[in-house]
This record gives sequence, structure tokens and C-alpha cells, in this order.
Amino acid sequence: MRWTKTLVATLREEPQEAEIISHKLLLRAGLIRRLAGGLYTFLPLGLRALRKVEAIVREEMDRAGALEVLMPALQPAELWEQSDRLTTMGPNMFKLKDRHDRLMTLGPTHEEVITDLVSREISSYRQLPATFYQIQTKFRDEIRPRFGLMRAKEFIMKDAYSFDVSSEAADASYKAMYDAYKRLFARCGLRTKPVEADTGDIGGSSSHEFMVMAEAGEDAVIECSKCSYAANVERAERRVTVAQPAGDTPATLKVDTPDVRTIAAVSAFLKVPPAKLIKTVIYLADNKPVAALVAGDREINEPKLKRALDAKTLEIAPDNIVTEVTDAPVGFAGPVGLSIPIYADLSLTNAADMVTGANAADAHLLHVDLTRDANVTAYRDISVVNAGDACPRCNGELCVARGIEVGHVFKLGTKYTEAFEATYQDESGKAEPIVMGCYGIGVTRVLQAIVEQSHDNNGVIWPVSTAPYAVGLLSLDPSDTAVAATVTELEAQLEAAGIDVLVDDRDERPGVKFKDADLIGFPLRVVVGAKGLAKGFIEIKQRSAVESVFAPPAEALETIQKTINTMLAELTAGQP
Ligand SMILES: [Zn+2]
Repeated sequence: MRWTKTLVATLREEPQEAEIISHKLLLRAGLIRRLAGGLYTFLPLGLRALRKVEAIVREEMDRAGALEVLMPALQPAELWEQSDRLTTMGPNMFKLKDRHDRLMTLGPTHEEVITDLVSREISSYRQLPATFYQIQTKFRDEIRPRFGLMRAKEFIMKDAYSFDVSSEAADASYKAMYDAYKRLFARCGLRTKPVEADTGDIGGSSSHEFMVMAEAGEDAVIECSKCSYAANVERAERRVTVAQPAGDTPATLKVDTPDVRTIAAVSAFLKVPPAKLIKTVIYLADNKPVAALVAGDREINEPKLKRALDAKTLEIAPDNIVTEVTDAPVGFAGPVGLSIPIYADLSLTNAADMVTGANAADAHLLHVDLTRDANVTAYRDISVVNAGDACPRCNGELCVARGIEVGHVFKLGTKYTEAFEATYQDESGKAEPIVMGCYGIGVTRVLQAIVEQSHDNNGVIWPVSTAPYAVGLLSLDPSDTAVAATVTELEAQLEAAGIDVLVDDRDERPGVKFKDADLIGFPLRVVVGAKGLAKGFIEIKQRSAVESVFAPPAEALETIQKTINTMLAELTAGQP
């Protein structure tokens, strides 16, 4: 392909709309353009890179035995009522009505559609196991779309769904997808880390996220400094040393704390460290009030709390509910005397001589012994893990890092198959629910994550497997006959060898061409100029290398082929 025959829309200026480096570079290198918030057009270069990511994903899904299908993005809302997710997905889901006033959704995911299909098409154990996948456009009504393709309203996902006769068989399907993910991310040139994750609105028993560790990541990942334990902060656990039952705690004492409401303010006013305070937060779980307690130096982990309560919905209670259940203005809630269910963090077991709100305006209680003074429903792990906490697996210390989630694998169990009556007949003719798993990859997000992980000050450094073009062939003197002939011949040789090449045939200064080549990030830059040719060589340079190599025109193809093969082999070294 010739530069002058395609659209290479590189930008000199820093785009104002972009906050993170990968978003800036996708715009500057001419890969994408913004249509509106969270909506992007893929320009020719961007689409080429995207198609390469898709091809790798497709090859690895096929290799793992998954069957490709294509399901509609537009879905009848009744399907979502059947799985009870029309409410739990809430305002994240685009909903619309057709001309017959029938409620429809634009699918954010496809568990409902695929399980409906399987309930109709699969009936016998002989048809199982089966895994289906698709690469398709998804929609999410993001509250704040940002970071380019990272958090968009419309994006491309690979979603796969496995169906098995038993939980053990489902584990094998899960493992096959997990291994396929490791391999396909490596082939895309991404370094990923699998971490334990929360199952969220999807449901199910366990899951892993594949994270690209990067400062710009939106997910906080908790890692052990000693062992391989890693988990999304929503899921992360810590080792809690439960205190012995306290001896004699003095009787509770109500003290005046005029207009002193926050943990910091109470701590300063009463001269008590935050760890000796109890934070009481009133929530509505499935619309019923509950109180959650953590130590004053910790935060409540809402996904964990939601799981501990087995609630479908969880939100902070509005002020009027807080006043109603505590008999006090917001800021003075405490567990003593509360008549709603109380869930306390595990670390508060046997907590004594604590300070809490007094459920009265401008007052707190001293010397609270939770066991003695409050009617705690249960002690559960409901707090956010902090850096420095103890690892749940070893005696190491936990630390916090940032990551970009590019893939997610779930064991779903029978949540959806039961809702859609997707059963199979076993060998004795008995109907059993099919056991399910689901597996997502944000394909458009993968593309941006590659750039986030692989760039320098001059631009993108594409892995050879996913670059828009593997080779940028720079013609430094397009009007020179010898240069033009050499470029044309090498271009033809490369294309015949199946190596994609973009020829910079513009009538531009060399400096402009070098800058653009670095910005776009061709894995290999090949330079043909009149001066070099006169000395009998052309220059070949890897984007990631400092030094160039020089080859006579007759050997250029072989050198390029060898270099590309080495780069490809490096991507999959050590993979399953
Ligand atoms: Zn550990």
C-alpha cells in the first residue's frame, strides 16, 4: 500500500480530548477519531490493527475448540426479564422501543441470547461439552465514557460461553479458555496477569480477570509481595487476626460532639486514633436498610458487602432513611440500639472500647464493646484491603498496583441455564441443568492496551503481530529513478511474501517521514535513499532497537523476513 493512496491522518499536536498516553497516541498516529463521547471511528490504520487482534483471538478460540456464531446486538427485553437482569444491569443498559412498542435492549453481553439458543438446540449429554463464541459489537450506557477505547459506549468484544454436563467438566472448559487467553494475549504482544475477580452482575461462583498492569489502569489490583496471590480490589481478601474476647470494658459513655461527623473530625476532637473508631454506614440492600461497620481506618468494600448480604441491589441509604433508622442526623449513626440487621467487618470480632456514633444528634459513644452492646447479625469480610495488609495465602505483605482489564473468565454454574430451562438428558434419560461458563475479551480495549504498554516519547512501538503494517518502507527520494525502482521491487517482494508494507512515497522531507514512522510505530522501518543506494545498501531498523542494520537490496527481503520471524517467535516463547 502507498501512503498517497490511503488515509494516514497523523497529528503533530497533542489532542486536547485525550487524558492518557495510549488514547493520545491512537489519535495522533491516525488510528481512531472521536464521533461523540464514547464513540469512535476506526480509520484505515486502526482498522488494520483491530482486524489483526481479531484474527489472533479467532485463531485461538478455534484452536481451543470453540464454535463461532454471530448473535444479534438488538435483543428483546423479555429475555433479560427472564434472567432477572433487566433491573440489576440498571441504567448501564441501552433500552429502546420498536414501532410496536416492544421494549428492546442493545446487548451489553449475550448470556441470555446464547442460553435461550442452547435451551432449544441442545438436549442430550452427547452434544456436550460445547463452547460458542462471537466477535461482536456491544453497548453500554457509560455514565462517564473516557480514555478513548478503554471505556466506550460502543465497543467490540469476543464473548464465549461454555456448556457442560457437570461442574467438573465445566472446570475443564474454564481451564481451556484460561490457557487460550494466556496464549492469545501473548501473541498480541501483551503482558497480562491473571487476577482473582468479583463476579459482579454476571453472577457465578468464581472468576479471573486478565490485567495489563499499567499506571493508567482503572482497576486496582492487590498483589502479594511474596507469593503469586493477586486479586482485583473488589475481590481481594486479607488475613485477619481475630482479637480475643475483651475483659472488662467500662460502661458506654455518651459524649457531646457538636457538629463533629467524619472519622477524621471525631478522631481529632476526641483524640482517639481512627482504628479505635467504628464507621457505621446505612445501606439499602434490595431496598431494605442494613448497617455496615468497619474500623475507622478502613473503607467498606461494597461488592464484598453485596455478596455477604446475597443482595441483588445495594446502595447507600438516602438521608431521610438514615434519619429514620438512627433517629439522628447523618454523621451520628452507630450500632448500639439499632434495630436493623448489622454486618460488621471480620476484623471487628470482639472489638471493645471503641468509639461509635450515638444515634443522637451531636453525640458519640465511648467504651463500646460490640459483643456486649450491639446486636451484630454477622461478622464478615466486608472491608477494602489496604497496602501493607497481610496476604491471605502466605505471610507476605499485600501491595496495590493499577491494571487494565482486557479479559475476564467466569464459572457461571446454572444461574442462566435454570432461568432458561436449558437442560440435557443424561445417560439414564434424566433431565439435568447444563453447567455454564462465560469468557470475555474487550477486543477494542486490547488494541489500546497494547499501545499503553508499548510506546516511547516518539510514538507507538507495535508488536509485529498487531501492527497496522509490519514494515514502513520510506522512500527518501521518490523522484530518483533508482530509488523508485528499488522501492517498487522490494514492495512487491514483501507483498508476495505475505508481509504487509506501507510505502511512504510522499514528496516530504526525510525528517517528516522518520517522525511519522516512529509515531505510527512500524515494527520495522526500511529506508531507501539515493545516498545509501549509491553505496549499495538500504537501512533496516527495528522500532524497538537503537541500531540499524544495512543490507544490499538483493538481501533486504531475507533480512526482513528473518527479523519478523524472530520477533513473532519471541511473542509466544514459553506459552502453552
Ligand atoms: Zn502471599
